[in-house]
Amino acid sequence: MQARIEILQGDITKVKVDAIVNAANSSLMGGGGVDGAIHRAGGPAILADCRKIVAKQGGCKTGQAVITTAGDLPASYVIHTVGPVWHKGSQEEEIKLASCYIESLKLAVSHGCKTIAFPNISTGIYHFPKDKAAQISISSILNFLDKQPSIERVLLICFDAENYAYCTKELKKQEQNN
Ligand code: ADP
Repeated sequence: MQARIEILQGDITKVKVDAIVNAANSSLMGGGGVDGAIHRAGGPAILADCRKIVAKQGGCKTGQAVITTAGDLPASYVIHTVGPVWHKGSQEEEIKLASCYIESLKLAVSHGCKTIAFPNISTGIYHFPKDKAAQISISSILNFLDKQPSIERVLLICFDAENYAYCTKELKKQEQNN
């Protein structure tokens, strides 16, 4: 049987899955890093959907997620989640990061998605330590998959070699402990 979680190195905007996850900011109005790459590659339809969400609920809180069209991307949806800014662990950043993965997966399930791809949320401009982020992302995903059979495949798309190394090491470790 194919592993349900896979770690790959690459660009998330190129991945063909039902939903890709964006590490957005709470304004939902786009930004740098993966957010900028997704809006650039997906075109204006994504921002148009984000504006509708902002008009309705005024953005997205840290640890929460919202869903939009994927515009011109090969995916069907973009799930925008807002990761925590790292404050040396003093503001429940670890709980909030886990929540990003869980809330995104819940939205994917409620929209009938079977395949989903995540970037390494918060490990760029938000400076969450990459080793800790790898541990939290993989444990949150594995935990969710245990209880939710409708998701067939979760890809963790690492843009940089450091995240890729931490994530592959962490997946091996957590699979061995199961
Ligand atoms: P955050 O503000 O949550 O830290 P960033 O976009 O700055 O968000 O970084 C999150 C992660 O996304 C970083 O590990 C960064 O290297 C990665 N990243 C940047 N561009 C892409 C891309 N096109 N595909 C996948 N990951 C990307």
